[in-house]
Amino acid sequence: MSRPLHPTAVAAAPTPCPEGTPGWVFPRVIGQIKGGAGPVVVVVGGMHGNEPAGAFAGQDVVTEIERRGLTLAGELLVLSGNRAAMALDARFQVSDLNRRWTRARVTALDAQDPAQDDAEDAEQRELLAHLRHAEARAPLGLVVLDLHTTSGAGPPFVIMSDTLRNRRVAFALPIATILGLEETIDGTLLTYASEQGHVGLGVETGQHRDALSRHLHRSVIWVSLVSTGVLRAEQVPDLATHQQALRTAAGGAPRVVELLCRHGVTPADQFVMRPGYSGFQPVAEGEHLADSATGPVLSPTDGLILMPLYQPQGSDGFFLVRRVRPVWLTLGAWLRRARLHWVLPLLPGVSRHPDRADTLLVDPRIARLWVRQVFHLLGYRKAREEDGRQVFTRRTARARLTGP
Ligand SMILES: [Zn+2]
Repeated sequence: MSRPLHPTAVAAAPTPCPEGTPGWVFPRVIGQIKGGAGPVVVVVGGMHGNEPAGAFAGQDVVTEIERRGLTLAGELLVLSGNRAAMALDARFQVSDLNRRWTRARVTALDAQDPAQDDAEDAEQRELLAHLRHAEARAPLGLVVLDLHTTSGAGPPFVIMSDTLRNRRVAFALPIATILGLEETIDGTLLTYASEQGHVGLGVETGQHRDALSRHLHRSVIWVSLVSTGVLRAEQVPDLATHQQALRTAAGGAPRVVELLCRHGVTPADQFVMRPGYSGFQPVAEGEHLADSATGPVLSPTDGLILMPLYQPQGSDGFFLVRRVRPVWLTLGAWLRRARLHWVLPLLPGVSRHPDRADTLLVDPRIARLWVRQVFHLLGYRKAREEDGRQVFTRRTARARLTGP
């Protein structure tokens, strides 16, 4: 058995901000512990600068691993997200750092002179460099955990692209998993990581200022270190306590839900959520959920509300989701393992993309209701509309974090 490398950690305490600034100053690398061969788990905290709980939790876990002298099979790397915004306790400065991880934007950033960088360009450039270096050390791929908190209350949950790889890590967490939400938000880190063939999960644990959010993020990291094999269960004697903490916080929320719709907002909408809504609360079609410049915002359907917006910054007013029956998940996994996606281009209204082997075009006039469900089952993601057709791409790309 090869001797693991000596663990190295660089956990540095966040420093309080100078007088008059409200936030927290974290180093970019909050902590790093290297062990033997294995996956590299990358924890990002504070991708939104007013959500420091994940950064604190990552630092807590690094400190505890050091204190216990645990040897990892792999690596834990904890990065701060939007550092400058964290110092201001603001979600972002110029634009949302978690809406700019599209391939096109990353390519443009690579080509851009760093002297031209705005506040978030500079943050993203540094994060990209760390992710690419981590990838070079990770023949088994990265496991990216992007840790967030919400403005409204509610149980914790995971957001992911529905790949079998992501499922293995997400479903090890005894909290709700949201499918399809990432399709309505372009440029998240979790989608970017998944598209590069890594595990990419976004985790929301509760309200920004609730101490429980930091505790739950800690539990998420411990459970994920075990489910990815970076730690063995016997190395974490309080593993059951962490699982129970998550289970308790999850309450009666369903284990897996899928997105029904997203209500996007802009500053011009003057969107104001009505008080009292919290995550996974049932709402009825026609229910008066919020007010805006153009009048009352009514729920377009029955469902469970998710992430109601109770802060001034943000482009998502609320989401509606519904429970997914386990049988569909099992069926989907079976269909994908059986590689039955080849049947899709035989269906009416479906054709292959002329250039991309992993992409299909769907004519919505011919292929209607079943389209999204069937494509999801078989592991496809709806990427965009193009010339009146819907473009679906398989979620199993094995590309890498290409860069200069
Ligand atoms: Zn966030």
